[in-house]
Amino acid sequence: MSAAQQIIGSANPLSESPIPSPTSGERNDHLWEIASLRQALRDGPSTEQQNDATKRPAGGISLDVMRSLYASNSGPIGLRRSNSSVVYPGGPPEFPPVKKLNPLNKKRILVSGGAGFVGSHLVDRLMLMGHDVIAIDNYFTGSKTNLAHWFGHPNFEMIRHDVVDPIMLEVDQIYHLACPASPVHYQSNPVKTLKTGFFGTYNMLGLAKRVKARFLLTSTSEVYGDPEEHPQKETYWGHVNCIGPRACYDEGKRVAEALAYSYARQDGVDVRVARIFNTFGPRMNWNDGRVVSNFIVQALKNDDITIYGDGSATRSFQYVHDLVDGLIALMESDYKEPVNLGNPEEYTIKQFADTILQLVRDHKERCGEAAPTSKVVHLPAAEDDPQRRKPDTTRAKEVLGWAPQWSATDGLRETVAYFHGRMQQG
Ligand code: NAD
Ligand code: UDP
Repeated sequence: MSAAQQIIGSANPLSESPIPSPTSGERNDHLWEIASLRQALRDGPSTEQQNDATKRPAGGISLDVMRSLYASNSGPIGLRRSNSSVVYPGGPPEFPPVKKLNPLNKKRILVSGGAGFVGSHLVDRLMLMGHDVIAIDNYFTGSKTNLAHWFGHPNFEMIRHDVVDPIMLEVDQIYHLACPASPVHYQSNPVKTLKTGFFGTYNMLGLAKRVKARFLLTSTSEVYGDPEEHPQKETYWGHVNCIGPRACYDEGKRVAEALAYSYARQDGVDVRVARIFNTFGPRMNWNDGRVVSNFIVQALKNDDITIYGDGSATRSFQYVHDLVDGLIALMESDYKEPVNLGNPEEYTIKQFADTILQLVRDHKERCGEAAPTSKVVHLPAAEDDPQRRKPDTTRAKEVLGWAPQWSATDGLRETVAYFHGRMQQG
């Protein structure tokens, strides 16, 4: 083990499962059948370490390598984070091990919004798979530190750019993620959110048309609004208030979908549309106002857990690695209609608060800390808050062979450890 790896291993908040060297994790390479996976999760391993063996990261990338890229207190191989700055402990950076692809299989891939929560995980995966990746971002809600471990890598380029303006690049594929996703952020400047939804998607589609790149839009379950159909299938047209506070995001994504299919019909652009349901994981902004980060941070800090309304609204939460698997599978598939990507495990927000409190309690106990003293408090309900949300993922199973591999609680365990580590860093 190198000195750099020793530093990382010793500082890792997920210290119950120290990060092994990046070449040691090939045990996850093979595909797992969903049924046996579920069975294994139900019956089998009692420890987190054993549970990991049931996860199947796409692209043959080991979970341990992916974890090493976001574990708190440490950066990836060769670099270390300290108060949001990055230091290289002795000598030039060592990069995470990327696959060497045959030039015929190596693609030039653009990820807009690449410095954000989902975007940075997608960039990690595509880089580890051996592609050339260009990330563009205006850093509204994203951060360069999410991708700092790739700076200087010959396969990677980061460009500060606002997608509301056109850009000229030569690429084979475009994953278009640029858009704030947290209600607090997208409502803070609703006109900008609409401009990003329309002009941002228009510019990315124009680029796709010019260079004949395949284009994937990260749309959202919000296109279903406050749904009258449950669970939500892709054939449902939705129930959106077009003049409410969420309209800037919901209608921005609806027009983005309309643009994508108009470019497909009119100009033959090769489009894919993922409708993403609530997703969480490491690298979420601790202060972005979404329920997962709010509840975890509140419980870790012994603050009140803030439930908006009576807590009976429901959501279904997927772990970010599952989403990245689905996005890549969709991009590589021939399927052109929208596809829901989400975990159908449905929680009321009240149940979710209790689950997080329990997971934080368990985590603190493992760390030898006192149990959280947070109380649940009820605040006024958010306007136009969708009351029930759960994806019907039949289409994703049928056309992509995709289903979530992570239970919400397994993903939340990692996310709690991540936020705890970040808080200890200060
Ligand atoms: P995020 O806010 O963490 O990331 C969005 C990224 O886009 C940020 O890095 C931000 O700086 C960048 N960005 C925003 N506006 C931009 C602009 N005009 N030009 C360039 N960059 C811009 O959000 P996320 O959770 O990572 O979401 C990524 C995508 O997935 C978004 O399109 C979002 O709508 C979609 N989505 C996410 C979820 C979820 O639960 N995370 C659910 C449904 C859909
Ligand atoms: N919510 C809550 N307390 C919080 C943050 C969110 O009760 O501190 C609720 C919110 O009203 C909604 C659900 O949690 O019912 C999910 O909210 P989030 O902002 O995470 O995402 P949304 O699915 O609404 O876009």
